[in-house]
Amino acid sequence: MLRGFSAELRRLLMLLALGLIAGLWFGHMGWALFLASSIYVVYTLRQIYCFNRWLLSNSDLPPPEANRFWGEVYDRIYHMQRRQEKEKASLEAVISRVQETTSALRDGVIILDRRGYLDWWNPAAQRLLGFRLSDQGKSIINFVRHPRFVSYFDEGQYGEPVEIPSPRFNSKQLQFQITRFGNAERLVVVRDVTQLHKLEQMRQDFVANVSHELRTPLTVLTGYLETLSDSPNLGPQWQKALTQMEQQARRMAMLVNDLLALSKLETAEAGYNQKPVPLEPLLRSIHTEAQALSGELGHHITLECEAGVELLGSEKELHSAFSNLVTNAIKYTPPGGKIALKAKRHRQEVHISVQDNGPGFESKHIPYLTQRFYRVEASRNSSTGGAGLGLAIVKHVLLRHEGELQIRSEVGKGSEFTCVFNQTVDQKLTQRSLYNNDSSV
Ligand code: ADP
Repeated sequence: MLRGFSAELRRLLMLLALGLIAGLWFGHMGWALFLASSIYVVYTLRQIYCFNRWLLSNSDLPPPEANRFWGEVYDRIYHMQRRQEKEKASLEAVISRVQETTSALRDGVIILDRRGYLDWWNPAAQRLLGFRLSDQGKSIINFVRHPRFVSYFDEGQYGEPVEIPSPRFNSKQLQFQITRFGNAERLVVVRDVTQLHKLEQMRQDFVANVSHELRTPLTVLTGYLETLSDSPNLGPQWQKALTQMEQQARRMAMLVNDLLALSKLETAEAGYNQKPVPLEPLLRSIHTEAQALSGELGHHITLECEAGVELLGSEKELHSAFSNLVTNAIKYTPPGGKIALKAKRHRQEVHISVQDNGPGFESKHIPYLTQRFYRVEASRNSSTGGAGLGLAIVKHVLLRHEGELQIRSEVGKGSEFTCVFNQTVDQKLTQRSLYNNDSSV
């Protein structure tokens, strides 16, 4: 480029020198220099014109012939253009490959812009949600209006997917998982989970039916066992066997009841039948039941409840959750141990905790405690007789009340189970009325 530029400079200087000589010769220096400069300007303008015409022609033809300097400029631009075209072609190949791949996916993939409007979707999303080409730029809420999806979409907590009935086909069940990317855009993956949903429903129905069917024979069995063990004519060997049979039958009945309670929690619609539940009377009745349950074991059970605390929910379900925690504390704390039941407001939350000074357990168990049938080894070998369903029930109840269970425990010192609800009744009711007002606009 530099060589071309110095040749161009030489050309200009030569032209000016010729103009100078001609000026001296004819005695019109000004005119001669003006003429020389004009020749150079016209020549340069012609090069620029050719260059511009070639650029505008937008063709793949090589650049027109030109002198050294302009030839170099043309070549450089021509090579830059070729390079850009190659890069563009390879990018287009990547895009069409991505589009081909997502088209082959059975799951729907939707890209939403920062306002939540449809930007792009694959054929599966079109099939599942019935989008048309003209729907680009419309809000996804126009197509998926289910309240569960709307609040999932608005709240922006996309850690877990949400499952709802298909807005297009009544018999289908869809799962939506949103992920944020780029500049506040969102990627929505839609999956048809109808089969999984049916299987899960079959499992729930099976457990519910079997538990229900087992109830009557178990009641008959325990009835007969009680009558038999009361009989005075039985030898000590029979007495021992009958007592064990009675204990096991009672354990089975407890297991069946827990399974039934769990399947009811799984199947009933959350939020149905919710009303403000004052905690003081509820916890007082649980406290009285706990004292009766502890009986001769003589636990020191205390209750502290902040006045006027309420929760929005189902009283029956909340009772079952708190009472499961207190029952566990009684079951696992040695006789005479201390158990504290507390309810208080904490900023925007309501905390209900059950603390004991029982044996505690290692923290490695905590993530698994709310899984069905999980029991810490020590209690599995003991005679406490639980089935590992109590904390699963607590977890389900809390899920249905938008709460969470926090567990702290130290071996040899005791355990604390805290149910954390992130809103008080007043806040929830205010929020609901705001929502209602919003939706009525
Ligand atoms: P279970 O019917 O066995 O009590 P849960 O689901 O209620 O079932 O509890 C699961 C396990 O958690 C129990 O088996 C026990 O090992 C442990 N656990 C629960 N509560 C306590 C407690 N207060 N102290 C010590 N261990 C506990």
